[in-house]
Amino acid sequence: MDIRLGNGFDVHRFEPGDHVRLCGVSVPHSHGLNGHSDADVGMHAITDAIYGALGAGDIGQHFPPSDPQWKGAESHIFLRHACELARERGFAIGNVDCTLICERPKIGPHQDAMKTCLAQIIGLAADRISVKATTSERLGFTGREEGIAALATATLVKV
Ligand code: MG
Repeated sequence: MDIRLGNGFDVHRFEPGDHVRLCGVSVPHSHGLNGHSDADVGMHAITDAIYGALGAGDIGQHFPPSDPQWKGAESHIFLRHACELARERGFAIGNVDCTLICERPKIGPHQDAMKTCLAQIIGLAADRISVKATTSERLGFTGREEGIAALATATLVKV
């Protein structure tokens, strides 16, 4: 069996605003997230995990931040591209696991909506997708609420 594992990591800093986009869901918050695209840190980590499993570089190579056409882009465009690349190369996505690291906003109330959104974009059953969250015990930049970090893993299986 040809099984590939990839990981992804991303960080976006807070800026003035009233919501953050996380795993495709708009979550009300006292700040927004700064980024060239919609700054969906969770979706970026998942996208990089899939590229990583394929050995296909990273999100910045496929969608350069220097290219104005991606300014304000919705991050599902990036994730759909990674999933399409996997299919083109003969792989099915087995599962995706994403951890959001922040003190606030609270992720729990939005977890199911995030899973549903990711399932639809990736084309995967919701029970093969995990979105979970942790704090960093008030330590470091996430602890000081300067931004949000996300970690993701994806498995790809040759079909
Ligand atoms: Mg990013």
